[in-house]
Amino acid sequence: MKAITVEPRKPGTARFEEIPEPEAREGSVLVEAIAVGVCGTDVEIVEGKYGWAPPGKTRLVLGHESLGRVVDSGPSSGLKKGDLVVGIVRRPDPVPCPNCAVGEWDMCRNGQYTERGIKEIHGFMSERWRTEPEYAIKVDPSLEILGVLLEPMTVITKALEQVVAVGQRAFWEPKTALVTGAGPIGLLAALRLSERDVEVHVLDRAETGPKPELVRALGATYHTGSVLDLGFEPDVIVECTGVGSVIADSIQKIGAGGIICLTGVGAGGVASRAVADIAAAAVLKNNVLVGSVNANKRHWYKAGQNLARADREWLRRLITRCEKPENYGQALERKPDDIKVVVQFSEV
Ligand code: BGC
Repeated sequence: MKAITVEPRKPGTARFEEIPEPEAREGSVLVEAIAVGVCGTDVEIVEGKYGWAPPGKTRLVLGHESLGRVVDSGPSSGLKKGDLVVGIVRRPDPVPCPNCAVGEWDMCRNGQYTERGIKEIHGFMSERWRTEPEYAIKVDPSLEILGVLLEPMTVITKALEQVVAVGQRAFWEPKTALVTGAGPIGLLAALRLSERDVEVHVLDRAETGPKPELVRALGATYHTGSVLDLGFEPDVIVECTGVGSVIADSIQKIGAGGIICLTGVGAGGVASRAVADIAAAAVLKNNVLVGSVNANKRHWYKAGQNLARADREWLRRLITRCEKPENYGQALERKPDDIKVVVQFSEV
């Protein structure tokens, strides 16, 4: 079968190639790939900055945002042939740490977790893949191709759960929420926040293209420029850029008692503000800075519900299809107007 593979930590090694069929030990459920979303993590892996091949192998099958159709449900999976499914990304560490032991692999404490298409387990960018039944999430069939948005939705479902959990530390009545970055994660965050009783603002660099209108369609307000120039102090900031200056500005701008949830993974930047000054502001305003990555089964379940009830037409506008997997290179280039590029392996 054909797959998109890469040698992690070696830039320029991605290729579309013939690989063996998935092995039975990879799971009793056999799935035919429909589509796989591409995100910044995939781009980083292809650029040689991130990623790990399975033990004893040099190459990794890329892809962690899956959507597929069950070909063989295996014994007692509760699934049936033809069901649309998405594969869970992370697996608990083998020790296991206390959090993995209770199913909170997203909060793994020892870093020995594995992740499909990212860390030591093959991903989903192959014509067929296998999964253990307990890591296959059935999606509402009426979502069709939109089911490929489930994985990014899980990431934001967890992040917002973290914000709410932190909010419970005191009397909490958030009125304004800011999302920094109108990529797929930022837009899904805005979508979820717009379902709540808060005023939603989204800030991004793009002045043209689909982002401003996608934000307005949610009843939210679109901004460009600096966080510091906003005319209000947000109660919640969901940071989805990973850009140092945006993070620093967010810490400065957040309101008293406010929560900043960091979801973007960036690197570098110039430390232009003294750490103790930032800390002093956080202390005097009771701010919380919470990082959030990945998602566990509870979030996958909730994200499935969130996605199924979202406006389908709005979701559809997030997706750009790359219809030939051999042209995956185009999917990895980030064009300014593309929100979520998906590599399509077969029709829904
Ligand atoms: C994925 C997560 C993963 C994280 C770190 C993200 O792109 O969506 O599932 O945990 O990368 O590897």
